[in-house]
Amino acid sequence: MNLILLGPPGAGKGTQAKRLTADLGIPQISTGDMLREAVREGSPMGLKAKSYMDAGALVPDEVVVGIVEERIQQPDCARGFMLDGFPRTTAQADALATMLDKKGLKLDHVVCIEADKEELVKRLSGRRTCRQCMAPYHVLFNPPKKEGVCDKCGGELYQRDDDKEEAIRARLVTYESQTAPLIAYYEERGLLRRVNGLGTVEEVYERIKQAIS
Ligand code: ADP
Ligand code: AMP
Repeated sequence: MNLILLGPPGAGKGTQAKRLTADLGIPQISTGDMLREAVREGSPMGLKAKSYMDAGALVPDEVVVGIVEERIQQPDCARGFMLDGFPRTTAQADALATMLDKKGLKLDHVVCIEADKEELVKRLSGRRTCRQCMAPYHVLFNPPKKEGVCDKCGGELYQRDDDKEEAIRARLVTYESQTAPLIAYYEERGLLRRVNGLGTVEEVYERIKQAIS
């Protein structure tokens, strides 16, 4: 199954992807996680991406398209994959369609997780992320068992630079202007499944399962 998780920053894409991939036996492909890894390694791509990410802007299309194109060639994607945070522009969606066409693949569902702005700001400003396995936590809504430590791998939890107030505001504006048009794009293609992202992680998870069943 080939899926896209769409939705504004903070909607819960990463949280749900981590559960769903375990369930469906397909990998999560998070362009945000891959870019943060490149920044951490200090690779040329990471150095280029960092300034865009910190400002809450999008990294240039050709950079992310290249990452995804390479990633979906990996053997673990043979049974499908879940794209989290990609595509984020119409140009990326077109590039993805071309990429899949070439491989004789198609998208099964585009799940759009919806939440209002007030909730998104609350979620993003309290988010903590594991430096090692990238698992998302929240200081109030989804706290780790031991403060500052990842339940899953024991890694250190930190606050992403782009989860600070100014960058959060910029990211929400970027989403509205550049990514939200993809909702109509996939609706026209009959692939969009809207899911209410409010409620507990479990409730949202059940709604997604229903939407893709
Ligand atoms: P995204 O990948 O869409 O940016 P995340 O999955 O990282 O979003 O979630 C953003 C923040 O909201 C995290 O701190 C996460 O723990 C929290 N969160 C995710 N789902 C829920 C939910 N259903 N209710 C409350 N908080 C949530
Ligand atoms: P995320 O982890 O999905 O919230 O992404 C964090 C940041 O990485 C974004 O604010 C962008 O700067 C960058 N990024 C992630 N995915 C993409 C993408 N598909 N296109 C452009 N930039 C991206």
